[in-house]
Amino acid sequence: MDYQAFYRRSIDDPESFWGDQAELIDWHKPPQKILDQSNPPFRKWFVGGETNLCYNAVDRHLATRAEQPALIYLSSETGEEKQYTYAELHREVNRCAAIMRSLGVKQGERVVIYMPMIAEAIFCMLACARLGAVHSVVFGGFAAHNLALRIDDAKPCLLICADAGMRGGKAVPYKHLVDDAIKEAKFPPPKVLIVDRGLDPDMHWQDGRDVDYWDARDDFRDAEVPVTWLEANEPSYILYTSGTTGKPKGVQRDVGGYAVALASTMKYVYNANPGEAMFTTSDIGWVVGHSYIVYGPLLHGMTTIVYEGLPTKPDAGIWWKIVQDHKVTTMFSSPTAVRVLKKQDPAWLKKYDLSSLRYLFLAGEPLDETTSRWISDGLGVPVLDHYWQTETGWAMLSYLPGVELKPNRFGSPGFPAYGFNIRIVNDLTGEVCGPNEKGVLTVVPPLPPGCLSTVWGDDNRYVNSYFGQFEKQLLYSSSDWALRDADGYTFILGRTDDVINTAGHRLGTREIEEALQAHPAIAEVAVVGLHDEVKGQVPVGFCTVKDPALIADAAGREALEKSCIAKVAELLGAVAKPYKLHFVTALPKTRSGKLLRRSIQALAEGRETGDLSTLDDPNALEEIRKAVGR
Ligand code: AMP
Repeated sequence: MDYQAFYRRSIDDPESFWGDQAELIDWHKPPQKILDQSNPPFRKWFVGGETNLCYNAVDRHLATRAEQPALIYLSSETGEEKQYTYAELHREVNRCAAIMRSLGVKQGERVVIYMPMIAEAIFCMLACARLGAVHSVVFGGFAAHNLALRIDDAKPCLLICADAGMRGGKAVPYKHLVDDAIKEAKFPPPKVLIVDRGLDPDMHWQDGRDVDYWDARDDFRDAEVPVTWLEANEPSYILYTSGTTGKPKGVQRDVGGYAVALASTMKYVYNANPGEAMFTTSDIGWVVGHSYIVYGPLLHGMTTIVYEGLPTKPDAGIWWKIVQDHKVTTMFSSPTAVRVLKKQDPAWLKKYDLSSLRYLFLAGEPLDETTSRWISDGLGVPVLDHYWQTETGWAMLSYLPGVELKPNRFGSPGFPAYGFNIRIVNDLTGEVCGPNEKGVLTVVPPLPPGCLSTVWGDDNRYVNSYFGQFEKQLLYSSSDWALRDADGYTFILGRTDDVINTAGHRLGTREIEEALQAHPAIAEVAVVGLHDEVKGQVPVGFCTVKDPALIADAAGREALEKSCIAKVAELLGAVAKPYKLHFVTALPKTRSGKLLRRSIQALAEGRETGDLSTLDDPNALEEIRKAVGR
């Protein structure tokens, strides 16, 4: 297919383009109108159509794929390996939906899922979809405070967790954190459903609130729960992501648009076929997990691999053994994970038969040329970078191998995906940039199907944080710098805001600053993302203290650094732990009191600090320079 023609049709005639794509899924009632743009920047896709994500991901395959594996669960942590055919997945999801229904879950109610990578987590997500309930999966690496914030925002009627996860051979408690979060939350869920894996012997059960998943599952052995048909624009899930404030944003997704968009990507973005196996190494707590561990491959009738474990345990060949054993055709991972493998013996890439593998897709952070070359040479298959965000739910820039695979250009995630009318514009004027000119990557509305419908419970935040940057025109801002070269390849050049990207995870520096400020010894703090060989960026903090005596010697500084980092882990979780904290007597600010985070970052990375005409106290910058040894 010709990319240009395909892309142009999606932009010039979106109704006809997406009307065709809508046929990729089953509808209980067909859409009455493909696109309603009467209230921009909101838009509705497939208006009046009724469908269900669980029906499309599970039930509709029963006629042709009942005995095909739908989900293969592998844990290199516990040694478990289980396969579920589509018929078995259907059974498990019905039992799970029956349990939830018995606990009061109904259409439109929220269910928080705080689970490690186990098959039951996916049954729960699909069961929510079946009932028309809205799931909010919270990443297992987040701590109790973070979980409490998300509970209070979503006000769930049920929380589902496991007793524990396992990481690197160690049990990581989940239920224990749930108990703490529920104590902190203002809107605690009345019921907690627990998948007890027997990993935490000290787990506490609270009478009247906590329900044992395995007991309940026995009660609903043959339960059949009818699908709840939903209008295409009803919410399917909430997924929180970091913004520039300390309060995470609940990205709200719809049902019909998401199903159609994902089904289309399986063809055009991933060039995958029903019956094949997809292995996405992310976690269900992230958008990549939602779209390409759970919904995408199942909507397409594929087998999805759910892996709990590290890429290096029991050895650095584990992923490739999975590819060989399960004939994986389509793999999706992150540059950080590949950089971790790059530190291991390259012989691992050659040990297993990888002939089934067609492509390795990477996303989540910039892919550097060395990493890209190392992995594509090692595997001998195309490695395709693609760019997207929690908000979009699927790729905005891609090489689109299912349309027309253009030659790879290192450092570029490719071309605008169909449906995304991407414009790179000057950040101040909104004027379109010329070739090779740096600007902000924006999308001209309407956002295509699958992208966020709003911010949960806060339409104003949706309008202001995504569409408020340019006065003269309504443009969705990605908050990423980008440029397009003369041949149309687009390059992503980093965030325009105070969000950092560590190991493919998005963290708000404001959230980490607030956590550090909760430490009684800390007066002021600035957190910036600094370049890191493996993780892309790591958070580094610069703090002033209330009592200088605390940091008078090296031992004092070390002890304080440890306890401050522990505070962040306690409030936000291990993912957000600063890599290093520097203690200084003042932070560089403008005369109006705004922290000069960008200058701190530039200085710490040995770059030009830029315009310092508004700097209040030059000594503060000097101190930063000394602290980082520049
Ligand atoms: P998240 O919402 O957590 O998926 O993070 C999205 C952000 O990750 C984007 O706004 C980019 O800053 C970054 N990102 C995602 N994919 C890529 C990519 N392929 N290349 C460069 N940056 C990326």
